[in-house]
Amino acid sequence: MSVLVYTENWDGKFKKLSFELVSYAAKIAEELNTKVVAVSIGNVEKAALAELGKYGASKVIVVCNGELNNLDNKAYNAVLAQAAEKEGANVIILAHNNKGKALAPGLSVKMKAGLISGVTGLPSSYSPMVVKKKSFTGAAFANVKVLSEKSILTLFQNSYAVVEKNIEPSIEEFAPALPAINTQVTNVDKVTGKILLSDAEIVVSGGRGMKGPENWSGIEELAQILGAATACSRPVSDEGWRGHSEHVGQTGKIIAPNLYFALGISGAIQHLGGVSSSKCIVAVNTDKDAPIFEAADYGIIGDVRKVLPDMITAFKEFKASN
Ligand SMILES: Cc1cc2nc3c(=O)[nH]c(=O)nc-3n(C[C@H](O)[C@H](O)[C@H](O)COP(=O)(O)OP(=O)(O)OC[C@H]3O[C@@H](n4cnc5c(N)ncnc54)[C@H](O)[C@@H]3O)c2cc1C
Repeated sequence: MSVLVYTENWDGKFKKLSFELVSYAAKIAEELNTKVVAVSIGNVEKAALAELGKYGASKVIVVCNGELNNLDNKAYNAVLAQAAEKEGANVIILAHNNKGKALAPGLSVKMKAGLISGVTGLPSSYSPMVVKKKSFTGAAFANVKVLSEKSILTLFQNSYAVVEKNIEPSIEEFAPALPAINTQVTNVDKVTGKILLSDAEIVVSGGRGMKGPENWSGIEELAQILGAATACSRPVSDEGWRGHSEHVGQTGKIIAPNLYFALGISGAIQHLGGVSSSKCIVAVNTDKDAPIFEAADYGIIGDVRKVLPDMITAFKEFKASN
């Protein structure tokens, strides 16, 4: 028995998300009195692979095959299913990100394993597996029970803290049989020099209270000072003030940063559905009765055109003095 975790890499590097997944898997393995096996697909340096032990992986299975340079769900799921079979894994953990969400349903069918997607905490029971997850875009919780012997869980970013264990993992190459790959990626355009919204620990977000696209320089400046990504409410992207890639909420991206600034955002339920898992929400709004203040940890009642420049000055001074 083991707990298998798929640790995605980005250009050969693991991110904090990978360590969160391994830490989460390690806690489940501890409760099941078993070990964690991490699966890494692609070229990653040995030192980086060994780092997975720092968070609780006892073994790292490495699959390097040029056929897997681009994501092909069938091929990746063949790798994960064979690794799970080889390691006798009954619990498989993936990230609840684009790749994890693309892979998990197919893997669940292939392995005849129950899938609980978008979990944010540890199982409350293991036999049967029961995990609490948000449903109705965060308006309710569901305790989902898996009836099959095997379970697949996809974990939201920033929902489980990284915990150090300091294990020295064994690193093993694995060459599973791959199915015929029928898709070919001909071109990849990557966003460079920007912090991706899905990866960001801090997000500075603006709503219609910002009044117009010409006022976004303050949001960008604050984001740059804090090393944050920028986001917006849906009407802002509908109006074309910002691109749709920044729209968060029920119909946009669902994010869970450590810190979310909601500037001139009313806090409609559809918006909160995408951001309510943020660890800390700071809201600025002129309306003391705006619903965002119900969700916020810190609220400033004021005009964002006055408060934002003051925040920028304060953060600049803080950074300069530290
Ligand atoms: C099916 C459906 C799906 C939806 N999906 C989404 C979604 O994914 N994401 C999303 O965001 N919305 C979504 N919406 C829209 C949502 O209901 C709200 O209309 C939207 O979130 C409001 O955006 P807003 O807060 O930027 O604008 P508004 O509602 O116009 O609020 C602007 C806020 O700014 C404040 N304000 C005004 N001037 C200032 C100032 N100078 N300084 C400080 N504060 C100021 C106001 O008090 C107000 O609270 C959806 C709606 C539907 C029906």
